[in-house]
Amino acid sequence: MAAWNLTDVIDVLEAAYPPGRAESWDAVGLVCGDPAQGVEKVLFAVDPVAAVADEAVEWGADLIVTHHPLYLRGTTTVAATTPKGRLVHRLIKNDIALFTAHTNADVANPGVSDALARAVGLTGDLVPLQPFADDPWRGLGRVGDLPEELTLGEFAAQAAAGLPATAWGIRVAGSLSRRVSRVAVSGGAGDSLLATARAAGVDVFLTADLRHHPASEFVEAGGPALIDAAHWATEWPWLDTAASILTARGVNVETRVSATVTDAWTRGY
Ligand SMILES: [Zn+2]
Repeated sequence: MAAWNLTDVIDVLEAAYPPGRAESWDAVGLVCGDPAQGVEKVLFAVDPVAAVADEAVEWGADLIVTHHPLYLRGTTTVAATTPKGRLVHRLIKNDIALFTAHTNADVANPGVSDALARAVGLTGDLVPLQPFADDPWRGLGRVGDLPEELTLGEFAAQAAAGLPATAWGIRVAGSLSRRVSRVAVSGGAGDSLLATARAAGVDVFLTADLRHHPASEFVEAGGPALIDAAHWATEWPWLDTAASILTARGVNVETRVSATVTDAWTRGY
């Protein structure tokens, strides 16, 4: 018999990632699963996709915790006629619950961007790039310093080495010889934080999913250098933080961080 049930595990996760802090458009929390079911094995992954479900079934997971929601915009059916419906069927048939912590994990302290900042080599104090008005220690993105000044090229190589490998790797906009020490990062799509990063006076902003026009205009205007990494890779470092929270709170479950690369882009040429 499992000593912990799903409700207990969710209580711990929601203490770290309060659902009330999620964006209004977001869909976080329990997607499927019986709150009374026992939980012995918890798999952490970025995306609730078929490859992750395969891994969960094979390993015998009772719960998958993902960063991305399965249904962000709602649905009227979970019939197994769609990929998401098939996923729901697969999980329920195998007694696997699914729980998501998305924007509420982004803004937490420590949250998604703290883990990203550490992965790319920021070692000192970190502050939110866009703090909440009512809490300066929580919010989107993080700003911090490198332990020593690097060239942009050196920092890019260090960031690439610190993040899990993906088909495309990372892209850099700016002179590679430029000196950088103050860095802003934001896990996932960071387009909306470009102006905030410029106002923060950082030397480089590392995020994902940057588009041509916003990036081009930003660099033309003399903004900080940009590093665009794979969306999945920028959020993956957080999985270990989330798994550690269960361990640190004494939740007696086995945890595993999925190494399955679920970035949308599977090959670069
Ligand atoms: Zn994301």
